[in-house]
Amino acid sequence: MRNVVIVGSGCAGNTAALYTARANLQPLVVKGYEAGGQLSLTTLVENFPGFPEGINGPDLVENIKKQAGNFGAEYVEGAVTEADLSRRPFRLNIEGQWEEARTLIIASGASARWLGLESEQKLIGHGVSSCATCDGFFYRGKKIMVVGGGDSAMEEANFLTRFGEEVFLVHRREGFRASKIMLERARRNPRIRFLTSTVVEEIYDVSMNLVTGVRLRNAVTGQVWDQAVDGFFVAIGHIPNTSVFRGQIELDADGYIISKGGARTSVTGVFHAGDVQDRVYRQAITAAGAGCMAAIEAERFLEAEGH
Ligand code: NAP
Repeated sequence: MRNVVIVGSGCAGNTAALYTARANLQPLVVKGYEAGGQLSLTTLVENFPGFPEGINGPDLVENIKKQAGNFGAEYVEGAVTEADLSRRPFRLNIEGQWEEARTLIIASGASARWLGLESEQKLIGHGVSSCATCDGFFYRGKKIMVVGGGDSAMEEANFLTRFGEEVFLVHRREGFRASKIMLERARRNPRIRFLTSTVVEEIYDVSMNLVTGVRLRNAVTGQVWDQAVDGFFVAIGHIPNTSVFRGQIELDADGYIISKGGARTSVTGVFHAGDVQDRVYRQAITAAGAGCMAAIEAERFLEAEGH
């Protein structure tokens, strides 16, 4: 029987592990298929407090994991494939092995939605990014492309004009999902060039391990052309990793966990941390803070239950 099982090993999960381990609760962390979370897909993180020179995303998350390990946190490879949260102790199937847990911290994050091009996947971290806040700074004076037609794409395009000399906003149709105000703000920005009814067919140049441009196609006329760019940002939404808990805890229409205040979920003894609940801030530091909150709540819950 585990006091705490933590699902996910990004910033939120590892911070929850650090706090619960230090509280002597010997947490078990299920790493998940994207171990290290979204930070493991970034390069330099310059906005995590305490690192004036910046720190590499994968190093940051590995450091927190080590720190948690120093206090006895235990890590297991793989993911939770089945869960029974209908009664306590909770039961979790981790790659075929059932574990029982008095409390559960869900920190399984959200995965960026990608276009699905092979070149895109190969160039992630080498000019292809899903986070303007994280990586925009590297494109000062450069040409940047943002893909998407929702609020995230508008927000990222606007933000990226602080750095880029020109920002192309590529959207697959004429109509936008973005709110009127965000769309208008982007339209008024003289450094954003809209390319509507346009799809990305290829990102160059995998052989150089660097983004040099893209091949675009007009979805209406079929016209194909190349556009040189240095940075490529995909902003077509995120998918929270909650499918294994569907039907057991309250999720919103998009699959994000609905918070019941603090780190509480609709199930007593199950807590949330990080992007699995947060569609607004999505930062390493807010995820770490949320991991800390979930750990403290789990600890108090166990104490109140007499464990
Ligand atoms: P979203 O609203 O779901 O928009 C996703 C966009 O990506 C859509 O325009 C969609 O095109 C496009 N898309 C999806 N798959 C694609 C593909 N395979 N190829 C090309 N384009 C694709 O996602 P979001 O912009 O991340 O926003 C998510 C939620 O967060 C929304 O509720 C939004 O309002 C909120 N948000 C709010 C703010 C803010 O208020 N400051 C900022 C960011 C996000 P189609 O339209 O053609 O489907």
